[in-house]
Amino acid sequence: MSTPIQLDEKALRHVVEEVIRGLGGRAGSGGKPNPSAAVPAPPPAAGPRRSPKGPRFGVFEDANEACAAAQDAFLQLREKGVAARAKVVEIVKELVTARAVEWGRFEFEETKIGRLDHKIEKLQIVKLVPGVEWLHPYGLSGDHGITLEEYTPYGVVGAILPVTHSVPTLSGNIINIVAAGNAVVFNPHPGGARSAALAVRAYNEAIHAALGIENLVCTVEKPTLESFDALAKNELVRLLCVTGGPGVVQAAMKSGKRAICAGPGNPPVLVDDTVDPEKAARDIVQGGAYDNNLLCIGEKQVFVLEHMASALLRGLEKAGAVQLTASQLEKLTAAAFSTAKDAGGCSHPVLNRALVGRDPVVLAREAGASVPEKTPLLFAETDVEHPFVLEEQMMPMLPVVRVKTVEQGIEYAVRSEHGYKHSAMIHSLNVEHMTQMARALDTTLFVKNGPCVAGLGLGGEGYLSYSIATTTGEGITNPRTFTRTRRCVMVDNLRIY
Ligand code: NAD
Repeated sequence: MSTPIQLDEKALRHVVEEVIRGLGGRAGSGGKPNPSAAVPAPPPAAGPRRSPKGPRFGVFEDANEACAAAQDAFLQLREKGVAARAKVVEIVKELVTARAVEWGRFEFEETKIGRLDHKIEKLQIVKLVPGVEWLHPYGLSGDHGITLEEYTPYGVVGAILPVTHSVPTLSGNIINIVAAGNAVVFNPHPGGARSAALAVRAYNEAIHAALGIENLVCTVEKPTLESFDALAKNELVRLLCVTGGPGVVQAAMKSGKRAICAGPGNPPVLVDDTVDPEKAARDIVQGGAYDNNLLCIGEKQVFVLEHMASALLRGLEKAGAVQLTASQLEKLTAAAFSTAKDAGGCSHPVLNRALVGRDPVVLAREAGASVPEKTPLLFAETDVEHPFVLEEQMMPMLPVVRVKTVEQGIEYAVRSEHGYKHSAMIHSLNVEHMTQMARALDTTLFVKNGPCVAGLGLGGEGYLSYSIATTTGEGITNPRTFTRTRRCVMVDNLRIY
């Protein structure tokens, strides 16, 4: 049996004040709580953010200013609803298609890597990225009423772009991020920042004209590691979306912010003896030569069963690729990699970035060879330990390794992929080989009997994104990736049956 507690008025008053303080309120004179102190402050008035020089149209010198402007824009978008998001998606798809040639040429001239025709094509296909239609709420109905799970925005997303596809990734990210109801601030690669700013300005002008919202998509004009840091630390940024190599992925994951990381890859290809080697070769050239091998999903090294190797090499030649001799390969390897001492004291090949994404004719020159101007791809026979096999070199020079068995080919493929869990390809009609390789590689994309690009909806079923969240596991990003799931529950009512 409990004993009643005796409290004097002073003690009671103290307890009440403590409780109110705990709720975030303040006890004023007479012990009355200030209700406004317990309720979050209303959002600031959502007016356009202009510099003394006039409208910024999303291009900012300072990352923190960009975040504040994007937050204003996010609040305006929220007011205007899903129709406004759909309008932004439409604007981006229309503009990127209409300006594909102009922007592709601009990016090609700024970055000086890849191939002009593919730079343009990568922009023309941005329209394959899904939009607001992707966000179906999840509904439950039962004896206890109905429940709805809705996919709602975060607010401002901070996004990092690679130099390999600056405007394509930017445009695809905008569609996914804004379709989900967010605003975005980009920290592009310094080598592609002018291209990013060109597109951001055009998108904002069109969005402002159609919806009256300024700065829904922002970019840092001269991005640096410091501006990345500012973005990662800014409290308005609720989520990061990183597309790049191991350094930036690591930096984002250390930032303390939730990060969706589309990280590096080194996709292997396995060819067994059940397929038409000419067809396999044509697919390999199509994928491996695309934009001079800049695609993260691109074929980077080929393992082929010994007794199929000659037929495959002939097939590659028939598809236009040119084989380098052992001595030519040696010369090119010396130019493409240098050997530096790493922290562990072992020698480790370091990629010469000046040769990344360059034309085969340029690489051939480095190799002391001369090839026709239009050659799509070079290839050479190597062993599995070769730097062209083990490094993500992003050059149109494909190493081909002979293997004794499918098991050995899979083992080598696993070794060369380094556990990035990115992409892999097989050319085989044997379902056991396919299953064995899929299980061993455990990659986000696994393409059977097609070029890598079939994995992103180009010749295979599926939708497109230029950010494949491999490291953090969200997969091929889409509007849903950039949402928070929230549940709304109606107890015991509104179920109509
Ligand atoms: P990168 O890693 O050099 O640069 C990517 C971005 O990160 C750039 O904006 C760069 O400025 C920034 N960055 C680099 N190091 C940083 C650090 N320590 N802190 C903060 N920011 C940093 O890569 P890249 O050459 O621009 O692009 C190629 C790489 O991106 C390849 O590894 C490729 O596989 C990968 N990639 C992946 C996907 C995917 O969807 N998974 C798509 C495209 C490219």
